[in-house]
Amino acid sequence: MQLEAPRPLLAPKQLDAVVIGGSYAGLSAAMQIARGRRAVAVIDAGRPRNRFAAASHGFFGQDGVAPAAMIAAAREKLAAYPNVRLVADETVDASGQDGAFTVELASGSTLKASKLVLATGVADTLPDMPGLAERWGVSVLHCPYCHGYEFGGAPLGVLATSPHCVEKALMISEWGPTTLLLNGQPMPHEGMLAKLAWRGVTVEQAPVQALEGEGQALDAVMLADGRRLALTALYLTPRMAMASPLAERLGCAFEDGPFGRIIATNAMKATSIAGVFAAGDAARTTHNATWASADGVTAGAALHRSLIFEGLDAA
Ligand SMILES: Cc1cc2nc3c(=O)[nH]c(=O)nc-3n(C[C@H](O)[C@H](O)[C@H](O)COP(=O)(O)OP(=O)(O)OC[C@H]3O[C@@H](n4cnc5c(N)ncnc54)[C@H](O)[C@@H]3O)c2cc1C
Repeated sequence: MQLEAPRPLLAPKQLDAVVIGGSYAGLSAAMQIARGRRAVAVIDAGRPRNRFAAASHGFFGQDGVAPAAMIAAAREKLAAYPNVRLVADETVDASGQDGAFTVELASGSTLKASKLVLATGVADTLPDMPGLAERWGVSVLHCPYCHGYEFGGAPLGVLATSPHCVEKALMISEWGPTTLLLNGQPMPHEGMLAKLAWRGVTVEQAPVQALEGEGQALDAVMLADGRRLALTALYLTPRMAMASPLAERLGCAFEDGPFGRIIATNAMKATSIAGVFAAGDAARTTHNATWASADGVTAGAALHRSLIFEGLDAA
């Protein structure tokens, strides 16, 4: 049977959708829209959050694959659809309303679309400490499910950045003997100290001055009182901020998460602004590639259905 080609995308005056951010969330959203035979462009600046890690862990069928390779494979699959345009560029502005959005790119191009997906991710703000930033994603980590198995049984540290650090230390001790480095955060109350002791977690009050080790590996942290504490990996929860101001520009509502603001969405990943959907780290409190991708699928399918059913309502 001859398939009828989806609507062409060579120079469409108006796209059905523009997806801003082309990583786990954005490419997953675009795939649903593409398979719905609608015209979609994905704009991506090429800075996925886990670009610092050599391997990504835990994603269905892709455990241990390099983030760049995962994203390249997803892009290749999408590029096979004639109704998809992949654009390597930064979106500098987005404006308009449902049915008529304008997206401006750093290169000076402008795209027009009926609907938008924001899949722009978050940016991590790391503690300012000598030796820390250069080890991010290798031996300084945020998530033990992503990067914990590889350090099983080794001496591990949790650098306190907020009161949530106590829970993190209780959890990290599942992977190896753990020291909670308070680094100026208040001493946990007695009940928590008892739980930490029960999990075998040592609490260290002396501030951390620097991280040491060969290359990006970690051997130890230097404490302000001159002691050297041997550690193989250090876990922390960074402060997070939107990687892009576009959601704010469009007027989307936000909600407070434990580690920073996120774009408020309903169960179908629609934002407070009609026609704008949001997916991935920017629009959820728990973060990994699988959840980001699943969000993208939800947003893409919901966006596609809105194109069908809103059209019917207007008929
Ligand atoms: C060090 C580290 C290691 C991690 N390891 C793992 C792991 O092993 N397994 C796992 O499941 N998760 C891991 N994660 C979490 C994972 O990286 C995120 O949950 C996931 O990347 C979120 O996907 P996303 O699509 O929402 O955002 P991102 O992957 O951050 O992608 C956002 C994309 O949007 C683009 N963008 C932003 N603004 C604009 C703009 N204005 N115009 C155009 N493009 C724009 C960016 O350049 C980027 O490509 C790790 C995170 C970190 C920090």
